[in-house]
Amino acid sequence: MSTDATTNSKTKPASRKPSLMKRLSKSYSRSGSSLPHVGPLRIAVLGAGPGGIKAFQGLAKALASHPSAVDLVLVSDRDYYFNTVSTPRALVDPTGTPVAKLIYPLRQLLTDEAMGSNLTKRVLVGRIESVGTDRRVKVIPSAERNTVEWIPSPLSGADDGSFVVDYLVVALGSHTAFPSKVPVGGIESAKLVEQFTGAATKLADEKTHRVVVIGGGLVGIETAAEIKTAYPTKDVTIVAPELLPGYPAPFVKQARSVLARKSITIIDHVRVNNAPGLLAPTNTPSFRPVFVPDFAVPLTSTDPAATTAPISVPADAVFVATGVAPNSAPLDPQAWPVTDRGYLRVTPDLAVEGVAGVFAVGDIIEFPGKDRVGKLAFLAGEQSKTAVANIVRAVHGDSLKAWKVPPFTAVTALGRDAGIGYLPGIGTKLGVGAAVAKKLKGKDGGVGLVDFLKESLPVPASA
Ligand SMILES: Cc1cc2nc3c(=O)[nH]c(=O)nc-3n(C[C@H](O)[C@H](O)[C@H](O)COP(=O)(O)OP(=O)(O)OC[C@H]3O[C@@H](n4cnc5c(N)ncnc54)[C@H](O)[C@@H]3O)c2cc1C
Repeated sequence: MSTDATTNSKTKPASRKPSLMKRLSKSYSRSGSSLPHVGPLRIAVLGAGPGGIKAFQGLAKALASHPSAVDLVLVSDRDYYFNTVSTPRALVDPTGTPVAKLIYPLRQLLTDEAMGSNLTKRVLVGRIESVGTDRRVKVIPSAERNTVEWIPSPLSGADDGSFVVDYLVVALGSHTAFPSKVPVGGIESAKLVEQFTGAATKLADEKTHRVVVIGGGLVGIETAAEIKTAYPTKDVTIVAPELLPGYPAPFVKQARSVLARKSITIIDHVRVNNAPGLLAPTNTPSFRPVFVPDFAVPLTSTDPAATTAPISVPADAVFVATGVAPNSAPLDPQAWPVTDRGYLRVTPDLAVEGVAGVFAVGDIIEFPGKDRVGKLAFLAGEQSKTAVANIVRAVHGDSLKAWKVPPFTAVTALGRDAGIGYLPGIGTKLGVGAAVAKKLKGKDGGVGLVDFLKESLPVPASA
């Protein structure tokens, strides 16, 4: 697939679309493996995070008036979207930002079916067990369920959750410790509310006096700042090899200044690597916060010159924010272009390297080139726009266009009263980025950023 910045498929009449047989034979020769099905154009989006949902919505809009039948499927291990972006606030403000407000049933994606459209939308709830480079997807029941669930009805011939599509968008995202994200596998919403509320209640308990956050990235400092802002009498400590590694120095300086103002202790140049029950093995998406009084978090110095590094830090609660890992388990590394760390390599067009008909967006991708591409919801959404446009171009037989990496931007709230921000062309000057961060996330913890879905779960009257 080539990149051609001068081609615009929107200017081309629909009649230029290749015939169904031409499309299928092209798809067959490109995939070089199993025979494609005969019938409507089939597209599946794998994963219902911001990247997957925006790709699903974009494809539904772009193909609503397609001249022939289109089947569009969104596959998710849960029947709801969980707003990860607002978890630090929900953890400390169960009344203002109850966790139910972070849970959006996926059914609402199906309610706006356009009259007379050839496009049929479906959601398949189940865990994706495997995805072939022939675009065969195998979905099995999610945790605590006996069957896969098709909403509203199965794709023809795919009741058991196995099917082949013409185009795929891989948006399987990443996992990290609970409660920042929920474990992959399909936790039911009632159970999630219970577990999240349980963690929030234990954190609020006055016996939980010393809180340690392991990890000095954006999530670590945001979590620490939310806790300290909501509970100013608790001792909050961040332990990490480095604060905001890889971020511009003025941004790091701004963060240090806000954290110091909030009396959050930073122990850097240390690593936590020997705490059974705290740090699960790599790639186990089941880290949990630990609530054990007088837990000694063991530290190892990362500074060879240090002579007086602390060997442990006491805690009554420990939150883990040591970064994300990609959800690439369904992709056989022998067949798919995955990196050593499990990221899926894409071309600048967001097509998966060397695999016909497959695009990928969001946290799971390894984007080529020297520009830093963050793992951010807003970038996943931007990438989805390009992936959608490129699928439409591919359907029309047109050349693909590259995604343009936006200039580096970083904004985050540090509690409801402070923020840090680095904006293109401005950096941290005049505190403009910090003001933007406060506006975007300070007040409501970022709940308002979810503008692509309307209805969250109703909040129980007792909340
Ligand atoms: C605490 C926190 C705060 C953040 N704040 C911000 C912020 O302020 N702004 C911002 O832009 N970004 C923020 N981010 C980053 C943002 O959440 C991610 O970049 C974004 O969620 C990535 O979207 P995605 O669609 O690629 O993947 P994900 O959101 O990870 O979604 C992937 C989906 O695929 C599902 N899935 C995975 N494997 C399978 C499988 N085998 N079968 C079925 N389903 C599967 C997952 O369960 C999940 O629902 C924050 C992240 C965290 C953790």
